[in-house]
Amino acid sequence: MKELILLKSGEVVLKGLNRHNFEDVMIKNMKRRIEDLGAFRIWKKQSTLYVEPQSEDIDMDLLVSRLQTVFGIAALTRACIVEKNFEDICAKSREYLAETLEEARTFKVEAKRADKLFPMTSPEICRELGGQLLEEFPHLRVDVEHPDVTVTVEIRETAAYVHTNQLPGAGGMPVGTSGKAAMLLSGGIDSPVAGYMMAKRGLELIAIHFASPPYTSDRARQKVISLGEKLLPYTGKIRLFVVPFTEIQEQLRQRGPEDYFTLLMRRAMMRVAEAIAKREECGGLITGESLAQVASQTLPALACTDMVTELPVLRPLIGMDKEEIIRIARKIDTFDTSILPYEDCCTVFTPRHPKTKPRPAEVARIEEEMALEPELFQRAVDEAELVVLSRRHSGYREV
Ligand code: ATP
Ligand code: MG
Repeated sequence: MKELILLKSGEVVLKGLNRHNFEDVMIKNMKRRIEDLGAFRIWKKQSTLYVEPQSEDIDMDLLVSRLQTVFGIAALTRACIVEKNFEDICAKSREYLAETLEEARTFKVEAKRADKLFPMTSPEICRELGGQLLEEFPHLRVDVEHPDVTVTVEIRETAAYVHTNQLPGAGGMPVGTSGKAAMLLSGGIDSPVAGYMMAKRGLELIAIHFASPPYTSDRARQKVISLGEKLLPYTGKIRLFVVPFTEIQEQLRQRGPEDYFTLLMRRAMMRVAEAIAKREECGGLITGESLAQVASQTLPALACTDMVTELPVLRPLIGMDKEEIIRIARKIDTFDTSILPYEDCCTVFTPRHPKTKPRPAEVARIEEEMALEPELFQRAVDEAELVVLSRRHSGYREV
């Protein structure tokens, strides 16, 4: 039996005239996501996208799970392709749905007839096919209100399709349709979740990680690479910049007051990140900050960090509890990697009493008095190491 996948796009349909651009980007993303599984024919007709395998040996379960990570797709359905005659529809339905219907207690049949030349009406198809399925599976009952399984028959122009319940898609907007932004990726729980959430809104991502060797180890760096790789099914290729941050941190610690250290460091991160982001043509920065989670995430502290960059700082976790964040981290499979106990540059020199209500004027005065060497930040930008994360990368194992 030949199968294909029917896909419904989500919010993309709200986009009016731009809709085709959005769908074209989504199709390109889909192709990239499944190209190594075999050859496919992909086309769109009205509000449905079709993905049809061109050979028998394609793993359909894997195909479905891959497509479920493509943003922009609201729902998808695995369907059997049948000929447009009622005998074939009945015969194939019995065979194709056997396993599902064996396990169900109640069902109903729905028919959608786009081809009005088909000789039976939708109610006739439902009644006749329903009757045949009841004969074949006598344990079943019809329940039109809350059936365990809805058998849908769609009569379209070139073929008919038989399928059961829809599966959820990844939702959101196709990656790339909202532009590009730089996520500040630490080894923690929050920042990969923040990146995932913004990719879901259609942003292409690059990643920036601040490393402070020898205070932070190579294992900590490797952990960040693994976290970035976990996002690849959703984001596509990520250019990760590993910024050497040791010198900046040491200077801040030597020259600045201890209680302002975290804040000064966060401002330094923003400055370096902004320079890399602009060079990489990004329109925004993304962080995993959540209001009140730590001293540097109070409103006055956030105001002091925002001040040093012209780019919008996107903080999708700002109103979320740790519990909610962890739930997403588990869903996208970053949690177990995030909790590996390697040091981050933020934890290397943590002040005992960090300022929670810094005043912008005060911070600016402190920075002026520190009189850091003007090239300090630019050097970090220039010396950042580029690691390209992609599915072909040797360390990456496809799910
Ligand atoms: P996370 O769990 O993401 O590490 P956190 O709760 O530990 O976040 P902070 O350490 O204060 O919070 O960092 C806040 C945000 O700053 C992070 O979510 C991340 O976006 C960014 N950040 C922190 N440390 C780094 C780093 N070493 N490299 C890049 N970005 C960082
Ligand atoms: Mg952290």
